[in-house]
Amino acid sequence: MHIMVTNDDGIHAPGILALAEALRELGTVTVVAPDRERSAAGHSLTLHSPLRVFELRDGFFAVDGTPTDCVNMGIHSLLPVRPDLVVSGINHGPNLGDDITYSGTVAAAMEANLMGIPAIAMSLATFERHGHFDAAAQVAVRVARQVLTNGLPADTFLNVNCPDCSLDEMQPPLVTRQGMRSFIGKIVDKTDPRGRKYYWIGSEEPDFNDEPGTDFYALNRRHVSITPLHLDLTNYESMKILSGWQL
Ligand code: MN
Repeated sequence: MHIMVTNDDGIHAPGILALAEALRELGTVTVVAPDRERSAAGHSLTLHSPLRVFELRDGFFAVDGTPTDCVNMGIHSLLPVRPDLVVSGINHGPNLGDDITYSGTVAAAMEANLMGIPAIAMSLATFERHGHFDAAAQVAVRVARQVLTNGLPADTFLNVNCPDCSLDEMQPPLVTRQGMRSFIGKIVDKTDPRGRKYYWIGSEEPDFNDEPGTDFYALNRRHVSITPLHLDLTNYESMKILSGWQL
């Protein structure tokens, strides 16, 4: 088995290292990750500037681009074989609810899914410096083993979020749906030392609706949350309504 690891926190992030190390149990691991933090890069692709690649050590590549660039570089150029699985993570911070549309972690898994490769986005729900990355890495190995053994349904990739606790304290994984954020982002404006205004987006901790069945609900109760995602954003119900319009 060949597994590619990536994420948006940058090649030196503890989550990437813990994940790459743990997944070696299942096969050969190649890491292709941004050379610096690129969180909230979403699904952006670099088209108007060149990309540089630095091989830091064997099977460890830093790219001066986005997570989506890394998946493209890894699969079309850097990996010796087409991988059996792409795992993006372990992200430093949760990827829940509608916030996943901003996520570089989820976008990398999405990109692999677009290429027909099974993919998992893996996040640890903490912003603490010393989170339980090793416990989350063990969860990642378990989920990855299932994906490698059973495959995934067509047009499906996984968004996995782990509570920040030891394996003993962790509740069993729940299959969940994508929740919803309940807070509208605020913009803070301040003045810089040269007297010019600057603005900062999203200064508050996001809050989610604690609805049963959602990713947020599961995580709040120390369950591992596993949400199957797909890329068809079509609202099929609305198609019926719109087809009645006089256009
Ligand atoms: Mn990140």
